This record gives sequence, structure tokens and C-alpha cells, in this order.
Amino acid sequence: MRIKHLIRQFRAWQRNPVQYSDQGLQEHHCANCGHTYTGNFCPVCGQEAGDIRITWRLIGQSFLKAWGIDSHSLPNTLMQLMLRPGYLISDYLYGHRRASYPPVNMLFVVTVVYLIIAQLFDISRTEHFSYSDVPEKYAIAVDIMNWFIDNPAWGLLTFTLMFCIPTWFFFRFAPRHTQHTLAEGVFIQIYMATISIICTFISNIFTNVIGLFIILVAAYYYVTYRQLFGYRFWGTLWRMLLAIAVAFWLIVLAMVIMVIVWRSEKIEMLPSLFRPIIIITALLAAGYFISRRTAVNRRTAKDNKG
Ligand SMILES: [Zn+2]
Repeated sequence: MRIKHLIRQFRAWQRNPVQYSDQGLQEHHCANCGHTYTGNFCPVCGQEAGDIRITWRLIGQSFLKAWGIDSHSLPNTLMQLMLRPGYLISDYLYGHRRASYPPVNMLFVVTVVYLIIAQLFDISRTEHFSYSDVPEKYAIAVDIMNWFIDNPAWGLLTFTLMFCIPTWFFFRFAPRHTQHTLAEGVFIQIYMATISIICTFISNIFTNVIGLFIILVAAYYYVTYRQLFGYRFWGTLWRMLLAIAVAFWLIVLAMVIMVIVWRSEKIEMLPSLFRPIIIITALLAAGYFISRRTAVNRRTAKDNKG
């Protein structure tokens, strides 16, 4: 009985984690600048309304704030990303932006922290592919796979961005977020890349569990898509599996393109950092052109209706 109640509370929190107190029409006298106003903050100097007494609670909050821990902080947003991923992304897409840490910043911070920890504790023990594994003709594929191993963050971002187009295609008539745009799809995958890095981290700690990374990432994709798009069990599962299959073929296609580009001598002269930037720019540009076309179709469909 009690466990049932806790689960119900947890699910309610998943849907709506932040409650804002509204000081409403009550008048405040700003202790800092003397202005009289209504609302939660002074419009002249920006000081927060409410109790100005120094309390133990305030001391605790100040110390947490010094570490960047408050409701829209990185640790809080990461916790939300782990416990309510689909709803967090949904909140962001619907405009609840102030309530969470910005997703791109989060991806960069998580990546940097992951790389530092991986370096310090030498936990990324993934072995490089060797040239003797494949015929000489495909030696370039070994280079690409090893590049993914050496640059896990860029690799995961490229990998997750491949999900944009199939996700958009298979989930475009979903009960929630109907007709989501490819630009929104990029943001969804930026969140998924962050989750993937955390899953990499976890699977690098528990190396004795075989296939842990795949299990974790698949489970997170399922939970996220279910919460975000609102299909039920089967509806989510078969669309997700189709999206994974298409994403896989897109990755193969991207590898083929990369092999061709890598082989050309012009790109050899570029520093290695530029290559992933070029690839991601090309992907974003492709997404932009596709979504521009679909936006035009949608507009004409709307015009015909109205
Ligand atoms: Zn003031």
C-alpha cells in the first residue's frame, strides 16, 4: 500500500517536478532599493521578494548555491535527466526553459567531466581495432572506428544525431509532440547524447556486465520516447526499433561518405578537430534543408484546410 503511494508520488513528480510560489498581488517593499512592487522579484534592482531574515535554512541554501546547486542547476537537471528524461525534454520543447540547465551547456560540461575522470582513473579501456583484423582495402574503416574510440563525445553526438531523421519520420503523428520539427529533433538528440555519455561512464565502471552500454542506452531511448511522444508499449517499441534500424543504415552511409572524404587529400591537411565539426555542420545543414521543405508542405496543408 505504502509502496503504491510512493510510486504514485514519484510519477506525479515525473510529470511536474517544479512548483513555483506566486506572491501574487501582495505588495512588497524592497529592502535593497526601497521600491514598492508586486511579484516575486523587485523590478528595479532584481532582489528576491520575501523574508530577509538570516536563517539556518538560508545558510544551507547559500552554501548549496555556491556549488551551483539550486532548482535549475546542472546537478538537479542531471538528476531529472536520469529519472524523467522524456518529460524533461518535453518541458524544454514546450518552453519550460528557466526550470532546467541549458542542454548544450550540459552536454559540454558532462563531456569534459567524463573525459577528465576517464583520464584520471584510466577507465576508458576500450581497445583499438588493429589493421590486421581487416583487409587492407578497409584500413580506413579501422581509422574511423579508432577515431570514435578516441573521441567518444564527438562519436556519440554524431551517432545520436543520426536518430534525428528516423525519429522525426516514425514519431511525426505521435499523440504528444505531433509534427515535431527536425530542429527540435536535434535538441532531443543532444539530450540523448548526454544520456549516452553517462551510460558510457556507468558501463566503464561495471566492465564485467557484458553489453551493459547497449542495454542502458536502449532502455533510456525506450523510456524517453515513451514519455516524450506518448505512445504505449508496442507503439513506442516498434517505432523505436525501426528508428534504430534506419539510424544504423544512416551510420553505415555516413561511414562510406567519411571514407571517401577521408581519402581525399584536401581534408588530410585539416587539423583533426575540424573534421568532426565539418561532419556535424553537414548533418545540421541536411536537417535544415529537409525541415524547410517539410515546413513548406505543412503550410500548404494548413492553407488548404483553412
Ligand atoms: Zn529593489
